Amino acid sequence: LVARMRPFGTTVFAEMSALAVRTGAVNLGQGFPDTDGPREMLGAAVTALRGGANQYPPGPGIPALRAAIAEHQKRFWGLDSDPDGEVLVTAGATEAVAATILALCEPGDEVICFEPYYDSYAASIALAGAVRRPVTLRPGGPGGRYSFDPEELRAAAGPRTRLVLLNSPHNPTGKVFTPEELGWVADLCRERDLVAVTDEVYEHLVFTDASGPHVPLATLPGMRERTIRISSAGKTFSCTGWKVGWATGPAPLLSAVLRVKQFLTFVNAAPLQPAVAVALGLPDGYFDVFTSTMQARRDQLVAGLTDAGFGVLPSEGTYFVTADIRPLGGSDGLDFCRELPGRAGVVAVPTQVFYDHQDAGRHLVRFAFCKREEVIAEAVTRLRKLG
Ligand code: PMP
Ligand code: GLN
Repeated sequence: LVARMRPFGTTVFAEMSALAVRTGAVNLGQGFPDTDGPREMLGAAVTALRGGANQYPPGPGIPALRAAIAEHQKRFWGLDSDPDGEVLVTAGATEAVAATILALCEPGDEVICFEPYYDSYAASIALAGAVRRPVTLRPGGPGGRYSFDPEELRAAAGPRTRLVLLNSPHNPTGKVFTPEELGWVADLCRERDLVAVTDEVYEHLVFTDASGPHVPLATLPGMRERTIRISSAGKTFSCTGWKVGWATGPAPLLSAVLRVKQFLTFVNAAPLQPAVAVALGLPDGYFDVFTSTMQARRDQLVAGLTDAGFGVLPSEGTYFVTADIRPLGGSDGLDFCRELPGRAGVVAVPTQVFYDHQDAGRHLVRFAFCKREEVIAEAVTRLRKLG
């Protein structure tokens, strides 16, 4: 194995999901829903499969899907994109992130990201021979929310900085970046001529009590022309196994991403593309019910975790909530999560693995609430044994 990949072992999601299978524990670790997405979408996939959409589609994605992606982001976020040249279909958000970093970073370039960060960011930065510069999100901002120090953000930027990688709504914390925080990021990008890469896979999972609605960074002044915006069907349409994602952005940047993408996967699953196009065009009601259902699941899990004795941190969006294990006598989240199936029959994910400065998250674990009500209820019953 090449030196730059040696620090990366098996992903924590694979380890924890295997642990759940082995022990029969309730899996609130890896974030995937346990119900299917909209039936219109599933039906369209079957129709496409049976209808012969089974050979290589066009490299940037089928025209119907690129048009649907552009229309969706216009409808919800007011962002205009030309489906020809400013929209690219990828193998999930994961490929979009990897292809973007590989396309835009020379070896030795630096990427600012916020820790805890999604695990593939660190690996993609390393694959490119680039260097990550994490800015730490800390609980204890207004309302106990995670926040960061704008001075730390400024200090992270140096002569080799090329990209700022921003994930909002944020996995694993459930944080939604506020307009003020987005403004700090945008100011830095403009002043230092940086490209922003935004991972917005949870764009439809911002809850009513969040600090504000979802705001794509690309909508801030001067940001559209320097932002690659990334999202995915996996979360919004409960089809994480489909791996259909996309990147949108100005043609000069996006064509660089396409250049790399061609040689990573060439194209993506043909029959799933018309189906995702159908899903993106569903009426607003679908998206509203999706958000409110997930908010109810969050409330159910937060109440249960609080009852079980965890120190629960605010979750404003995503599939996830983080919890402090110290009130239960824990100190190390990794040890805690490895023992949790034996102690309580539940699997969670330690957040320390998403930090460079692991001490900042050593006492925190992440629970996923994208599960059926009865599954969360069972998990909560089990977790009460810990107290
Ligand atoms: N980014 C974030 C923040 C995620 O949580 C995930 C996975 N759920 C991804 C990217 C990967 O998305 P995909 O499965 O579409 O590759
Ligand atoms: N994004 C999902 C999570 O954070 C898992 C994706 C994966 O397993 N790589 O749980």
